[in-house]
Amino acid sequence: MRLSQFHLHTSKETPAEAEIISHKLMLKAGMIRKLAAGLYTWSPLGLRVLRKVERAVREEMEAAGAIEVLMPSVQPKELWEETGRWEKFGGQLLKMQDRKEAWYCYGPTHEEVITDFARQELSSYKQLPVNFFQIQTKFRDEIRPRFGVMRAREFLMKDAYSFHVSDEDLGREYRNMYDAYGRIFTRLGLTFRAVSADSGAIGGAVSHEFHVLADSGEDALAFSTGSDYAANVEAAVAADPAPRAAAGESLRKIDTPHQKTCEDVAALMGIALQRTVKSIAAVAEDGTFVLALVRGDHAVNEIKLGKVAGLAGYRLANEAEIQQFLGSEPGFLGPLNPRQPIRVVADREVAAMADFVVGANEKGFHLAGVNWGRDLPEPETVADIRNVVAGDRAADGGEIGIARGIEVGHVFQLGRKYAEAMKLTVLDANGKAAVPAMGCYGIGVSRIVAAAIEQNHDENGIAWPEAMAPWQAVVCVINPKGDAAVAEAAQALYRDLNAVGIETALDDRGLRPGAMFADMELIGIPHRIVVSERGLSAGTYEYRHRRASESENLDRAAVLAKFG
Ligand code: ATP
Ligand code: MG
Ligand code: MG
Ligand code: MG
Repeated sequence: MRLSQFHLHTSKETPAEAEIISHKLMLKAGMIRKLAAGLYTWSPLGLRVLRKVERAVREEMEAAGAIEVLMPSVQPKELWEETGRWEKFGGQLLKMQDRKEAWYCYGPTHEEVITDFARQELSSYKQLPVNFFQIQTKFRDEIRPRFGVMRAREFLMKDAYSFHVSDEDLGREYRNMYDAYGRIFTRLGLTFRAVSADSGAIGGAVSHEFHVLADSGEDALAFSTGSDYAANVEAAVAADPAPRAAAGESLRKIDTPHQKTCEDVAALMGIALQRTVKSIAAVAEDGTFVLALVRGDHAVNEIKLGKVAGLAGYRLANEAEIQQFLGSEPGFLGPLNPRQPIRVVADREVAAMADFVVGANEKGFHLAGVNWGRDLPEPETVADIRNVVAGDRAADGGEIGIARGIEVGHVFQLGRKYAEAMKLTVLDANGKAAVPAMGCYGIGVSRIVAAAIEQNHDENGIAWPEAMAPWQAVVCVINPKGDAAVAEAAQALYRDLNAVGIETALDDRGLRPGAMFADMELIGIPHRIVVSERGLSAGTYEYRHRRASESENLDRAAVLAKFG
């Protein structure tokens, strides 16, 4: 690609609306432009990266035996009524009517549609197992779209759905997908971790999430230092002027997801909220912190695992204690928006599936819900929760640590929930109708682009992992219009690199060297080769890797050798 013929639109300004680095850099590099809340256009540059992710996902899914389909994004209400999700899915479901006033939704996920496809396509056990996937646009009316494409309303997902004669076979395919996900995220050059997860509104018994580890991540992950144990922490706080829950007090479930603000938490703590307050924390009787940190302009309710016991009696932390705590938790400092809703993650539906639930005593004080990914009884009292926390910790002798993650993939064993609701059956080996077991497997294709930037950037811009870069290499021409020999040598190198399969751009825009290099660093091209008059007369090119601090003067063979 000749950049003089391409549409590149970078900017030096740091966009005011962007809070996290990936959002800032995607706007500065001109990869995306906002249309409305949570709706983005991918520019030609951004699309090249998105397609790289898509390609890696598609190739690895196919290599793992999944077969591609494409389902409509608009789905009829009747299908969603069969599973009860037309009502149950909640506010994320965008509902609309056609000219005949029939109701539809814009698909946030495709369990209903694939099950309908399966009941038309599958009739015999001989057709199983089968795993269908698509890479397709989803819409979820997120309460708070933010961070650009990280939490968008319209976004690109890879979703796959498998069908099996037995639970054992579902388990086998689940493992197969789990392994394929590992290959996908490794190939994309991401540092990631798989954790046990809550299966949320999608349902099902077993599920794991794949997280790209980053301080800006919205999820808190709990790790044990004593074993392989890792899980997503789901935590919640709610307002109550008298937050006292004694060990014996019984808990009740929260009926609806709550929206609380920093102001509510401040009221809960009995303090006057000031804009300068960067965090609100409480100290338990044993001197440990228990909840409510404010991060960026939003509040994240955080329960430090193992510290929940302190909820029975705690006091507001003083400034010095907060500072000390923040010092051990980088990334939590930031301006406070007192009206920002605090996410309460676990509602009744989620809680029913979690091992450790959101609860409240008679005074309405809500406790944390943590999904431990283990088979534990639902706690009924504060003391139960205390025991659950203590018993986890004791099991493997390790300490629990917390890391932040961005959920980029999620695999579920759905079981027969959808197949039963939608009356999907196939004939088994004995000629009897049997309900297949199902699995489903999602990857946030567009979110991965942002997540990768969170892990791969420096003060000059993005530093793409090879597999995601818009181009592997760029040939920069100094003074292309003024010096014909330089321009010709650059074009020859550009053609040769492409001819040997190295995806290369030619920066023949005629920018001053400083501005040209700044652009190429901002958009994160891994290999930069500069062709100048001085180099040509010495028979060398100036080569620099995006992550290197120095350039090298290399001859043509040595440049090519940089590409292995
Ligand atoms: P989250 O917890 O971040 O809201 P989710 O658990 O609701 O995600 P899933 O239903 O598991 O999402 O969907 C599969 C994948 O789709 C997620 O792992 C995530 O990578 C991606 N995804 C979900 N919601 C969004 C969104 N609003 N914007 C971009 N990607 C998303
Ligand atoms: Mg979600
Ligand atoms: Mg999630
Ligand atoms: Mg999920």
